[in-house]
Amino acid sequence: MQLRIALFVRNKVMIKLNRRIAALKPSATMAAEARATEMKEKGIDVISLAAGEPDFDTPERIKAAARRALDEGRTKYTTVSGVTDLKKAIALKLRRDNHLDYEIGEILATAGCKQAEANVIAALFDEGDEVIIPTPAWVSLAAIVGLSGAVPILVPCPEGNGFLLGPDELKKAITPRTRGIILNSPSNPTGAVYSASHLAEIAKVALDADMWVLSDDVYEHISYDGLPAHIFTVEPRLRSKGIVFNSLSKTYAMTGWRIGFAAGPKEAIAAAARLQGQNSGNPNSITQYAAIEALTGPQDDVRAMAEEFRARRSIVVDRVRALPGFRLPHIPPGAFYAFPNISGLIGKTLRGRKIEHGDSFAAIALDEARVAMVGGNDFGAPDHVRISYAASRENLNAAFDRISELLKKLD
Ligand code: GLU
Repeated sequence: MQLRIALFVRNKVMIKLNRRIAALKPSATMAAEARATEMKEKGIDVISLAAGEPDFDTPERIKAAARRALDEGRTKYTTVSGVTDLKKAIALKLRRDNHLDYEIGEILATAGCKQAEANVIAALFDEGDEVIIPTPAWVSLAAIVGLSGAVPILVPCPEGNGFLLGPDELKKAITPRTRGIILNSPSNPTGAVYSASHLAEIAKVALDADMWVLSDDVYEHISYDGLPAHIFTVEPRLRSKGIVFNSLSKTYAMTGWRIGFAAGPKEAIAAAARLQGQNSGNPNSITQYAAIEALTGPQDDVRAMAEEFRARRSIVVDRVRALPGFRLPHIPPGAFYAFPNISGLIGKTLRGRKIEHGDSFAAIALDEARVAMVGGNDFGAPDHVRISYAASRENLNAAFDRISELLKKLD
């Protein structure tokens, strides 16, 4: 016992971690999904609407390309920034989908979009630089900015404005230390999409302030009114201080393969590639060949998955709106999340447990209804919960049946 206490004290007190890592919270999305997985492994029947992960299998044409790559022995290191054919495929995709022209030297392939964001942000910003993040925002953005030493400046975008950042709100957030802004359209977690005219207004403010514009386009193909406008197409002058981030995870149901990319000015991309060369190296070689097929092959599977998400969105919107205490005024125009406000439930209790915010509701829903979702706190919107509808229609309906039953039990 004595020894145990001593070890505990030692862990708590004597291990001195790096200051930024010590302050780093676990990713709320990853943690919610891990809790659901842990319960499933114990045999508990949990329905997970937590992770932003398509439930579809990766399309066969992409898996076949990976098998070919294995058979051909593509199992060695590649250039850190990715094989040339992959960078050509990424350039083709940027031209085809976004009308943006990038050269091979302006592209960095990465192990998922997170790595692209982490390496580029670390390469661009310094201690004390300010990077604006309109919120609600994906949980890892502020963490990634903070790890670089820069300061995330969270700018709340009210639900009444469709969770979109207005140009005046952006102007107000700018200080002499502002160096960049991260936009994510369609947005995780709100599904909000910026129109071309709205982007033009944001672009004007960003140009005037001479800041970097980082555009996270991960959900672009899950957008129910066509491909969203791209800020660098709307305002090409931003290109010289602009970075595109994207991933194949959502578009091609390839979350586990870990492949994403960044595109931007050569010097910035080369700096991020230098960092990647020191801290990890090339993204998985087999995945790179699968990604070439994903990006350059027939895109019907992408459209089919997006259509299924559209059908699921209708189910989710109807069912969320039928739940007492939930509010979802806007039909999300993109991504596969609903982000309802649950403030109508705050103060209610279940067997002595009080709902204080979205996170406590999510915890109760997991324990009592066996439905996993993510509380809104780390997205910057504590009165909300994020419900992913990247789950089968059957599971969605069953999950909402469970939540309805749970709500009847609240005091
Ligand atoms: N981006 C997805 C989500 O928000 C996957 C998990 C993560 O990277 O955060 O759930």
